[in-house]
Amino acid sequence: MMRQFLEIKTANPDSLLFYRMGDFYELFFEDAVVASRALGITLTTRGKHLGSDIPMCGVPVHAADDYLQRLIALGHRVAVCEQMEDPAEAKKRGSKSVVRRDVVRLVTPGTLTEDNLLDSRRNNFLAALARLRAGGDDGFALAWADISTGEFAVIEATRAELPALIARVDPGELLVSDALYDDGDLRDLWREMRSAVTPLPTAVFDSTAAERRLRDYFDVATLDGFGPLARPEIAAAGAVIAYIDRTQMGEKPPLKIPAREMRGAVMAIDPATRANLELVATLSGERRGSLAEAVDRTVTAAGGRELARRLSSPLTDPARIAARHEAVAWLAERPALRRGLRETMHAAPDIARARARIVLARGGPRDLAGIRDGIGAVHALCARLRPDGGPDNAAEADMPPILADIAARLDGPDRALFDELTTALVERPPHLRRDGGFIQAGFAAELDEARGLRDESRQIVAGLQAKYQEATGIKSLKVRHNNVLGYFVEVTAQHGDRMLAAPLNETFFHRQTLASQVRFSTAELADLEGRIASAAERAMALENEIFDALVARIAGDGVALEAAAAALGELDVHAGFAELAVERNYVRPVVSDDLAFDIVGGRHPVVEQALARDGGGPFVANDCDLSPPDDVSGDAAAGRILLITGPNMAGKSTFLRQNALIAVLAQAGGFVPAETAHIGVVDRLFSRVGAADDLARGRSTFMVEMVETAAILNQSGPRALVILDEIGRGTATFDGLSIAWATIEHLHEVNGCRALFATHFHELTALSETMARLHNATVRVKEWKGEVVFLHEVVPGAADRSYGIQVAKLAGLPAPVLSRAREVLERLEETDRRAGAAGLTDDLPLFATHVRSAAAAPVPPANAALVQRLGGVSPDELTPLQALEMLYELKRLA
Ligand code: ADP
Repeated sequence: MMRQFLEIKTANPDSLLFYRMGDFYELFFEDAVVASRALGITLTTRGKHLGSDIPMCGVPVHAADDYLQRLIALGHRVAVCEQMEDPAEAKKRGSKSVVRRDVVRLVTPGTLTEDNLLDSRRNNFLAALARLRAGGDDGFALAWADISTGEFAVIEATRAELPALIARVDPGELLVSDALYDDGDLRDLWREMRSAVTPLPTAVFDSTAAERRLRDYFDVATLDGFGPLARPEIAAAGAVIAYIDRTQMGEKPPLKIPAREMRGAVMAIDPATRANLELVATLSGERRGSLAEAVDRTVTAAGGRELARRLSSPLTDPARIAARHEAVAWLAERPALRRGLRETMHAAPDIARARARIVLARGGPRDLAGIRDGIGAVHALCARLRPDGGPDNAAEADMPPILADIAARLDGPDRALFDELTTALVERPPHLRRDGGFIQAGFAAELDEARGLRDESRQIVAGLQAKYQEATGIKSLKVRHNNVLGYFVEVTAQHGDRMLAAPLNETFFHRQTLASQVRFSTAELADLEGRIASAAERAMALENEIFDALVARIAGDGVALEAAAAALGELDVHAGFAELAVERNYVRPVVSDDLAFDIVGGRHPVVEQALARDGGGPFVANDCDLSPPDDVSGDAAAGRILLITGPNMAGKSTFLRQNALIAVLAQAGGFVPAETAHIGVVDRLFSRVGAADDLARGRSTFMVEMVETAAILNQSGPRALVILDEIGRGTATFDGLSIAWATIEHLHEVNGCRALFATHFHELTALSETMARLHNATVRVKEWKGEVVFLHEVVPGAADRSYGIQVAKLAGLPAPVLSRAREVLERLEETDRRAGAAGLTDDLPLFATHVRSAAAAPVPPANAALVQRLGGVSPDELTPLQALEMLYELKRLA
C-alpha cells in the first residue's frame, strides 16, 4: 500500500494527498504534518518507512468538505485519491492485493464546485494571464471562467490596466506562466493580489496548442465563431482549459464559449479605489457595510452574483446603461408584477451551480430536483412576464427590450425535460445517490417490481416472528437483524437449551451464544435475506440507470438551461434595483456622453441606511456640480474641481464617497440616492482616501499615498472622476501643502478631469482665485456654547476655522491637554495676524508666512509640575479654604 501511495504522491507533488482508506481520507509523511497543523487534528504514526515512523493523520469522509475548505482557504491544494474498486474485488486477485486507487480530482482555490465550499452570492473565477511579447510593447490578455456556473470571458489589456482588471475580476486563483511569475516587473502585482497565484510551465500558454485545446473543448472546427480573438486571448483561454483538464481529470465543466470583452467597455477602477470605496467588501473584508450589501435586494444566489459583477464593472456605454435603467423603471412602476416575480424567484434553486455539479459527475439527486424546480421557476417567471403567453402580447408591447430578451431566454428550457424530471423524481430527494429512493414509484415498472420484492420479503420476515413463537412456544422470541449475522432468531439464555435440542434444532441452527441471549438462523430466513439483498441491489442499480439517463438529458439541454439561469439572475438584479428604488426613494439617473456631473440632493447609500438603522439623525442630502462651466463647450470643455474644507467629522469623506458611489451605481444600471442625477459617462474612477500603512510591503502611509497619487495624475483623462481625500497629510506640513497644491494645479491644467478634493490645508482655498474651474465648498458647522455642532451641509465657500480642538474634546482628550492646545492656538493665531496674512497667490508666499510665524512666536513650554498638580485637583471636592490654599501652592509652582 505504501508503494502505491508513494507512486501517486510522486505524480502529485504540489498537492496534499487525501488518500482514501475506507471511511477516512488519510494523509502521510510531510502532508500529514502540514495538514495536522493547519487543521488542528491529531498526528499519529502508521508503520515504518526506511526505518522511521510514518507520520499520519486522517479526516472522516463525511466531514471532508469542511476540512477541504479550510485547507484551500489557507492556500493549499488537495489531490483527492479514491478507491476505484470494491475491496472485495481486490481480495479476489490475491490476499496481498491492494485496492486500486486513483486521483479523481485536484481541488484548488479556482476549481471548486461544492456548494459548501463556495459563497453562493459570489463568483469563484479561475483566471489565466497571458503575455505576448511584441517589441517593446507587451500585450496581455486575461481569461476567466467560473466552473461552478459556466461563465467564461476574455479581454486584452496593457500592463498599466492589469491591476484594475485583476481587481475587478477578483479571481480565486490566477494562472500565469513560470516566465511571467518570475518577471521582476510583475512581482508587485502578484504580491498585491488577494487571490492565489499558480505558476504553470510556460508551454501551457502556447497559443497554437491553446487553439487546438479550445477547438477540442468546444467541439468546433475553427474558433472563428468566437469572434476575432487575439493571440494572447487564445493563449489565456487555452491555459484555463488546460488547467481544468488537469484538475478535473478529464471531466468537462459546462463552460460557455468565451465572451470577448471590449476594452473600455467597463469603468476602470484600480484596486486601491475599489478597496477605498468598499464596493463589494469593506476595508476589513466584510460584505456588511459595503455598497453591494446596501443596495442588494436580490432574492437569488444567481442575482447576488450578477449584482456583485455589475457593481464591480459598471458600463461605459450610455445606450446600454439606459437600457438597464429602462428595465428598472418599468419594474418599479409595476409593484404587483414585481412582487410576483420576486416570490417566484425566491423559491428557485441555483440552476447554474446544480447543473455544473451534474455535468461534472459530482451531482446528487437533489441537484436533479434543482434543475426540475429551476425549469419550473423560469417557466413560471416567463408566464408572469407574458401573461397572454406570447412574445407579441399586446398588453405588454411597451416592455423594455432587455426584459423581452430575458423573457425569451426564460422560456428556453425544454418542457419535456421538466415533465420527465417531475414524473421521475420524488418531491424531496435525498442528498446522496447511494441513499436511494429518489425515483418515484410508478415511473419504471422494473424498479417498482424490485422494490416490491424487497419490501414484500421484509414483510414476510416480520411475519416470521409470530410463526416461530408459536412453533417454539417461546413468547419472548424475536427476529432481529444486524450487519454481521444478517437476520437471526434470538431467545433469552434460559430457553437456549430447548432450542439446541431436538426437534427444534432441526429448524434452528445455532449461530452465537451471548451472556444472556442465544441466536439462531433458519433456512427460510437465509433465503429471504438473499432475496431482500438482491432486490435492493437491483432497485439501486435501476435507480442509478435512470439517474444517469436524466443526467445525460440535462447535459444535452445545456445551452437553454444556461441561458435561462443567466436570465433569472439578470431579472433578479433589475427587479431588485426597482425594489430598492421604491423602498429608499432612489431616482433614475441620466447618463450621457458629455462631461456633466450634476447631482442634486445626493445621499450616501451606505451611511444613509446605517443612520436609519441605528436610529441616528436624518441623512443630510447634498448637491454636487462638477459639470463644465456653461460658457465653454466642445473640446475646450473640462469638468470642475471642488475643493472642500471643513473640520474633521463634518462629513467631507462621506460627501466625496457618495458622489463616486452614485456614479458607480448609475453606470451599473441602478437608480441612485438623489433627487436628480445627470452623469456624463465616467470611464475611470480614482479614489485616494486616507491610507493605512502598508507595512507588509515596506511602504509607509506617505509612500502609498504618493504612489497612488502618481497613478491618478498619470492616468486621468477628461472622462475620469477623481476623489482625493486629505492628500499630503502623511508628511510635514509644508511638504504636504506643496504637494497638494501642485496636485490640484496638475488636475486642473493637465488632466482636466472632474474631481473632488477634500483638504485640511485652508491655504489651498486661495487657489480658486486663479483657477477658473476650481470652486471652494465647505461643510457647515455651528458653534454652540463652546461645542461644535455638525450640520453636514455642503455649501459654497471656505471653512473659516478647523474646530480641531472642539473635535478633540468630543473625542475625550484630557482637559489639561485641551486647554494647553487652546493657549498654543491663540498664540499662533495672534502672531499670524501680526505677521499679516500675505496673499497666497504671490510667489511662494505660503512658506514665508509660516516660517516667519513659527520663528516669531516661540511658545513657552507649559510648567509641567503645575499642569500635573492641577490635573490631580478636583474643584468640587475642595472647601473654599482649601481652594485658596491650592491657589497659593500653584502660585509657588509657577
Ligand atoms: P470627515 O471626512 O469630514 O472627517 P466624515 O465624512 O467621516 O467626516 O463624517 C463623519 C460622520 O458624520 C459620519 O460617520 C456620518 O455618521 C456623519 N455624516 C456625514 N455626512 C453626513 C450627512 N450628510 N448627513 C448625516 N450625517 C452625516
